[in-house]
Amino acid sequence: MICYFFPETVYFFFSSDVPPLLYYAHIPVMIVSLLAGLYVLKSGVSNLLNRLFFVISFFFSLWTTINLITWTNIHSDIIMFFWSFFSISLSLIAISCIYFIYVFLEKKDISNRIKAIFILLLTPTFLFSATPLNINGFDIANCDAFKFEWLPFKVYYTLLGILAIIWILILLIRKYRVATLELRKQIVLMGLGIELFLSTFFIFIFLASYLTQIGLLADSRLEWYGLLGMVIFMVYISILIVRFKAFNVKLLGAQVLVVGLVIIIGSELFFAENTTNQILILVSLAIATVFGYMLIKSIKMEVQRKEELQEMSNRLSTANDQLRKLDNAKSEFISIASHQLRTPLTAIKGFISLILEGSYGNISGEIEGVLNKVYLSNERLIDLVEDLLNLSRIESGRMEYKFEKTNLGEVCQEIYDTFLLRAKEKNLNLELILAENSNMEAMVDRNKIREVISNLVDNGLKYTLKGGVKIKLTDMGESMRVAIIDTGIGVPAEEIPYLFSKFSRGKDISRLNTGGTGLGLHVGKKMIEAIGGKIGVASEGANRGSTFLIEVPKEHVE
Ligand code: ADP
Repeated sequence: MICYFFPETVYFFFSSDVPPLLYYAHIPVMIVSLLAGLYVLKSGVSNLLNRLFFVISFFFSLWTTINLITWTNIHSDIIMFFWSFFSISLSLIAISCIYFIYVFLEKKDISNRIKAIFILLLTPTFLFSATPLNINGFDIANCDAFKFEWLPFKVYYTLLGILAIIWILILLIRKYRVATLELRKQIVLMGLGIELFLSTFFIFIFLASYLTQIGLLADSRLEWYGLLGMVIFMVYISILIVRFKAFNVKLLGAQVLVVGLVIIIGSELFFAENTTNQILILVSLAIATVFGYMLIKSIKMEVQRKEELQEMSNRLSTANDQLRKLDNAKSEFISIASHQLRTPLTAIKGFISLILEGSYGNISGEIEGVLNKVYLSNERLIDLVEDLLNLSRIESGRMEYKFEKTNLGEVCQEIYDTFLLRAKEKNLNLELILAENSNMEAMVDRNKIREVISNLVDNGLKYTLKGGVKIKLTDMGESMRVAIIDTGIGVPAEEIPYLFSKFSRGKDISRLNTGGTGLGLHVGKKMIEAIGGKIGVASEGANRGSTFLIEVPKEHVE
């Protein structure tokens, strides 16, 4: 058995008799663990979670201190006095870890029932720790406590640690299954930290102790390595608590690496035998510090940029939500307003028709001329209201489609007949070219497709001053294609991408003095897409005519 001790009663001095790892393993761990606890406490003393973490870090630091004392002291009475704190600090670490995870997961204090269970579990430790049932002697000559320990008590607090690991795991899994995606990430990160902390503790410390006891290991030095691992998890948890939202494993990794490196190099100073070595160590220390600082700084900047991006995208998404709400409110308003407008407009149309037909007696030619103008203006208003209503139906998803076998040849013929007079009045040609040897049928909503083609022909006539408009129906095999080709003002290339957007009107059309809302093409596109078809435009540019194409599948595909 190896026993490291000092010839004096004083402990905590550096001596060449004591292997450096003993200090490496203990002193930084004691300090860093306490600092981690204080760091968390400082970020919010009133927070129960923070206070519990401080308690864990305090007991861990206490355990490490006692361990160092017992390893380095030669007075069996002092060793025995401190020995009793082993089991107390161990049990308290285990129980406070469970308490900590409860509060972390539930965001509130635990019930009195669970508190009572905790007290019950801790009672044996407090009862037996300071009695011979824990330890009744210490063999200072052989540095041996094992044969003086009471095994059942030791088994008891080992089991307490294992119980904590399992208990915490169950709590984590139970919460994970019902948690949201964001919360799951937090549970995994924190769960990993606390479980690794506890299991390293119990695996290294108890394994070391038991293996030594049964003679497989020369001494329990193994625990020193475990301590180094534990303090890393402790720092990890503390950063996790304080900076949960902005937590970044990459940054933490770099920080731990750099701080670890600096501590290791720095502590070499105590063991340097001559000035040359000391200078060399100091130089290495300076290089490690400067480069480490630069590394951390660059990672920090990267993390910061990512956070800024996240923040910006969050703000954008909130603004987007608000815009969507506003857009919905606007659609709602348009829908209500259009409904209210349609009724009086239909009444006006009806009465003017009756007057023009002579139902209220004869009218003079002058009044007839005026009434015709009123009638046309009213028609335009009705079209506008219809467009607005269609838009609001499409946007609120209330537009209904009735698919039926429709002969598109018939539909185009009807449209041709309707617009022929208009074309003649404007001195324009209107031509209809139907697909030959084809049944020209497609499963579409007859009224909707008529509305869309009508609008395109209407536009063709509206935006053409010379020449004319062709309606051409072609059988494409799986689909039918309707082309509306005009020799009009054409569409400039830069306007094509926006042509089918809501309320989009060409720049040049004002000189044509045509009425319109810029809704026809937008509504048409939505309708054709709902039918399962496509709509597009081609134009060689201003004043070179335009071709609008609609293609709809013959069979309806869901
Ligand atoms: P509106 O005709 O009521 O303005 P539309 O949605 O039907 O609305 O058309 C949108 C815009 O597309 C028009 O303002 C016009 O600039 C352009 N446009 C549509 N059809 C033609 C066409 N046949 N020739 C040239 N430009 C057209």
